[in-house]
Amino acid sequence: MEEKPVSSPYKPWSLVYNEYDPKKEKSRESLLAVGNGYLGSRGALEEAEAGETNYPGTYFAGLYNRQVSRVNDKDIENEDFVNCPNWHHVTFRIENGEWFNIHQTTIIASKRELDFKSGVLKKEWMIKDQDNHLFKIISLRFASMDNPHLVALQYKLIPVHYSGWIEMKSVTDGNIKNRGVSRYNDLNQQHLKPVAEGYDNRITWLSVKTTRSEIEITQAARFAVYKNNKPEPVRLTHSSQPGVTRTAFRIHLKENEELCFEKTVAFFTSKQDDVDNPLERSIHLIKHSDSFPDILNASIRAWEKIWQKTDIEIRGDPKSQMLIRLHLYHLILTASPHNKHIDAGIPARGLHGEAYRGHIFWDELYVMPLYCLFLPEVAQSVLLYRYRRLAKARTYAREHGYEGAMFPWQSGSSGREETQVLHLNPLSGEWGEDYSSLQRHISLAVAYNTWYYYHITGDHEFMEHYGAELFFEICRFWASKASQDQTGRYNIKNVMGPDEFHETHKASPGGGLKNNAYTNIMVSWLFRTASEFLASLPEPCKKRITKKINLSNKEISRWHTISRNLNIPVSKEGIIEQFEGYFNLKELDWEAYRQNNGNISRLDRILKAEGKSPDDYKLAKQADTLMVFYNLDREVITRILKDCGHTLPENYLERNYNYYINRTSHGSTLSRVVHAYLANLYNNKKLVNQLYFEALQSDFTDIQGGTTAEGIHAGVMGGTVFMVLKSFAGINFKKEILEINPKMPQKWKSITCNFRFKNNHYFLHLSHSQLKIKIYSEISDRIGLLFVNKKIILPANKENILNY
Ligand code: BGC
Repeated sequence: MEEKPVSSPYKPWSLVYNEYDPKKEKSRESLLAVGNGYLGSRGALEEAEAGETNYPGTYFAGLYNRQVSRVNDKDIENEDFVNCPNWHHVTFRIENGEWFNIHQTTIIASKRELDFKSGVLKKEWMIKDQDNHLFKIISLRFASMDNPHLVALQYKLIPVHYSGWIEMKSVTDGNIKNRGVSRYNDLNQQHLKPVAEGYDNRITWLSVKTTRSEIEITQAARFAVYKNNKPEPVRLTHSSQPGVTRTAFRIHLKENEELCFEKTVAFFTSKQDDVDNPLERSIHLIKHSDSFPDILNASIRAWEKIWQKTDIEIRGDPKSQMLIRLHLYHLILTASPHNKHIDAGIPARGLHGEAYRGHIFWDELYVMPLYCLFLPEVAQSVLLYRYRRLAKARTYAREHGYEGAMFPWQSGSSGREETQVLHLNPLSGEWGEDYSSLQRHISLAVAYNTWYYYHITGDHEFMEHYGAELFFEICRFWASKASQDQTGRYNIKNVMGPDEFHETHKASPGGGLKNNAYTNIMVSWLFRTASEFLASLPEPCKKRITKKINLSNKEISRWHTISRNLNIPVSKEGIIEQFEGYFNLKELDWEAYRQNNGNISRLDRILKAEGKSPDDYKLAKQADTLMVFYNLDREVITRILKDCGHTLPENYLERNYNYYINRTSHGSTLSRVVHAYLANLYNNKKLVNQLYFEALQSDFTDIQGGTTAEGIHAGVMGGTVFMVLKSFAGINFKKEILEINPKMPQKWKSITCNFRFKNNHYFLHLSHSQLKIKIYSEISDRIGLLFVNKKIILPANKENILNY
């Protein structure tokens, strides 16, 4: 049942903007994007061209290009996510006047609505141009979720107080550069070159190629024109020049007559996971594809199927409901069931923009649990993206003198390290060295995601063929990275934790830090899990795996020893030291910095612009030590710390929380999710409310003041959705049976969701006093559950009502 929208400006299934604000437009373009996992297309206005206010962008999962740029007398190479020719540019003019320009027009009424359910972006405008002509414009746009190679647009124009000749044109321009992130503008951003273009009756085509990766991207477009709902036999004039195609026509419209222009486009690329002959395929598909309404209906049906598996209904709070679905929508746009056939991970900024060059980071860790529960085939494809790059990760480890597999902090097409070596501080305008590739914890995230997938799905086959190799090669890397000192303890040096503000410390000559607690605790978890995992496998399967990767008992027993002997400094008050030497750093005068700078989330840039180093202070960009509590259950961490020789006060989690949150600037959108999760764990409702609802709005309000324009933040989107399940519905998925301890926000009335866990399909409806639960199972008729700390056995395949 849907929420009644009466009392709220928020609709449960759509994002609506009722005004056009040039200052916010680029971030809205990211939020209004359409896509299907194969491609993502920003919600830029049809009439707009790239410039100060608008930035059309279409990106394909896994489609990158490298370029070399000269910075500070050095050649640096970057691999970028390529903005491909804009397929939806449509505009018009009256008689032979100026082409319509939104910035020289009066907008009388404006509404844009992105409907999550159908994946359709709709625009309805009433405008008055410079000559006082009044027009209504209605457009619809979508990327087909049924056939990911198709996108389509419908553009309607109705002269309200005018009769006369109108000229419409649609232009596709391949002579573009990446210009979505202004700090990259000094770099070489020319990624495309023209290959072919042409037209034939009602069809045009354009083919471009990336300059160095040599990937061809082709689009073929088909047009249809209707007047008052009837096909109109207008004469289309096509023209082309290298990299550009143009289609135009003239039509006479009387007052209140409706012109409808439809453009359907077929996209293919020559990426390895796509096709060999993209131009031929584009032309063939566009000639043989269905009508606009049929393509739209098929897409809506495909979305419907996805929503059946992924939707989370929240009653009582229309804004949260809208935002949760907004986040789910953008995640699905970024990685959909089509990704089964696509060789790509989940880019940190979606298929929505050019920030971080479309690279894939550890942010997947915040998103993957949802895919494991809702769309496991997509989770599997994300892991396969890593598996296919295992050889590269092995080489990367070797290059640094390690064994096993070391995954790159930023990953793109090939799996090599894509992290830039120089970073621009926009506050000082200075380029400085970038150490962030020392965040070796990315490999822990890959292993954690592999384990999570296996734990949720029980997919032995995947583990036997791919997952185990991935997991154990990462174990090998960490075993070679840990070195034993004279005391017999193991240390891990030259790493950075998730807190990117700390890059170096004297305890770790050569850059990075020594004994970063997050890394060491996760390494201990990794080794423990390795033994458990191996022990859980059927004997023949175990034999095959150990033979395949030549895994010996000696190695496993070394991992066991390291896991119990890692150096993880803890103070006598029970505060886990973020890294060795952290406790001796200076305290920052947080109040003074807040007063002088207002927003201090990017304290690193502020300090560096003052000639100081964040390395010298007790501060953090985001959860670092605390992040371990987000990943692992408290009892697991307690065990690890005890085994490594520590005695801990009962409330050590709360103590660590209070210690670190007061020294954290939340410079990453990921930060609030983790802190909100922990606040919920120990019942600090006030903090949960503040942090969770801030995190939930990160992109909606563009909390970092401009970064959403460069792409959505997939990690915080995933984290906030997952928190509905893991914190508010209170479901712990990490055990063999589900443990449910609900802690719903007061203002929510209920949560309804469904997911798959260990081959059973769970349907939950939770209110403040009751859980309705139905578990479909093909293998057992009774299923165990821990509900509000009580073990119960429920009959499968029927609704159970549990009061609490
Ligand atoms: C965060 C990283 C994150 C990256 C990409 C950075 O600002 O500190 O943790 O992986 O953004 O989202």
